[in-house]
Amino acid sequence: MALSVQRPKGTQDVVPSEVYKWHTVEHIVKDTAEQFGFREIRIPTFEDTGLFVRSVGDTTDVVQKEMYTVSATGDSTFTLRPEGTAGTIRAAIENGLLNEGYPQKLFYILSCFRHEKPQAGRLREFHQFGCEMIGAEGPAADAELIALAKSVIDRAGLKNVALNINSIGCPECRANYHKALKNYFSQYKDKLCSTCQERLEKNPMRLLDCKSEEDKALAEKAPIILDYLCPDCQKHFDGLKKNLKLMGIDYKINPRIVRGLDYYTRTVFEFITADIGAQGTVCGGGRYDGLIETLGGKPAPALGFGMGLERLILTMQKQGCEFMEPKTCDIYIAAMGERAAEESMDIISTLRSEGYFVEYDLVGRGLKAQMKYADKIGAKYVMVLGDNELDERKAKVKNMKTGEQTEVSLGETLLDDFAVCYYDTLMEEDEMFRGFVEAFVEKE
Ligand code: ATP
Ligand code: MG
Repeated sequence: MALSVQRPKGTQDVVPSEVYKWHTVEHIVKDTAEQFGFREIRIPTFEDTGLFVRSVGDTTDVVQKEMYTVSATGDSTFTLRPEGTAGTIRAAIENGLLNEGYPQKLFYILSCFRHEKPQAGRLREFHQFGCEMIGAEGPAADAELIALAKSVIDRAGLKNVALNINSIGCPECRANYHKALKNYFSQYKDKLCSTCQERLEKNPMRLLDCKSEEDKALAEKAPIILDYLCPDCQKHFDGLKKNLKLMGIDYKINPRIVRGLDYYTRTVFEFITADIGAQGTVCGGGRYDGLIETLGGKPAPALGFGMGLERLILTMQKQGCEFMEPKTCDIYIAAMGERAAEESMDIISTLRSEGYFVEYDLVGRGLKAQMKYADKIGAKYVMVLGDNELDERKAKVKNMKTGEQTEVSLGETLLDDFAVCYYDTLMEEDEMFRGFVEAFVEKE
């Protein structure tokens, strides 16, 4: 019996008819990151398990419950990256990028793996666009990074995505805050989930990020970190607010945001939408001034964010945002008979070498069926080639939208002739091309 295999729970296939949505967001994030002077970095899918334990933190959900740790025959175990920051910082240190001068600005688009309960907007393999900035300490850098994330959200066309900011201070202000949290949660120790009972001593701030309903309700009334900030952290947070105002970026202070990864210090932020259900955080990030030193690099302040691309696309769909049109065939060559089919190969490769998207019959359809097929795939033009056309070295190309037919030479001027009729399509369909032509005409 044939074996029927399905994709693993919490993973997704992106079929060709949907992939243009991915192309759209990949284009937007890459272009925006480059506009802000960020350069792309590519890192391995798996890393030493210790990298994540040390950076993400051994009391976090990610490390305690969600890592995919794998081993091949041999002794080492590796972990599929649950996020992109740790690997990026590891790579920046290992490749000497931190000696190239500050700020070092890096971005990536990558897949992440977390063993979570799959639901809308929460997958086991998902994709992140992330940015990391190394070497800038002042709050202007935090505002700049937030502005980048907001720019992506705006270019995607999203509305009603709220920016929430908070400061979770530095280890110094956190010492007092941890005491206050321990005092508060100790009263309810028996009600806490078992993981949080253990975390209470080791890392009480993690209790604020627990997903259990009971713990969440208790966290609502817990003391807030903003009441415990040291003067330097307070000044940094005030600076961030001032810079965001200068940039015209609206925000809400949300003292409940602590983020799920241990490496954060001072600024943390999230962009949240109400339109895609409970998993509404499209983007989350913050400052992690201690991480580089923890990973063995020369101490340097740093900050970054991760944006979930599935959640970005989901929100765009919900809000009816526009996606880039998928490319369609420029010209379909419909050949009648063997001689035409053979001689058309030269025409096809000439057109392709000039960058046109060309298709022709590969499954033995008759002329009528080829025309129907060309229409179905949305070909912009069809050229019919038969013995007459070949003998006269001339053929008609039909504009499939207007029905208009234009004669082109099959000889030396083929490319020029076709370019002339194709111009109409470009003027009609391609905004960038039209803008370019109009600007050119104006200059003349
Ligand atoms: P959440 O609170 O939703 O679990 P998180 O704090 O674990 O998010 P981060 O580790 O900061 O998320 O990752 C950054 C972004 O990656 C999130 O804001 C979200 O958009 C996306 N993301 C995180 N986990 C998942 C997942 N399991 N499936 C899809 N997207 C995810
Ligand atoms: Mg999570």
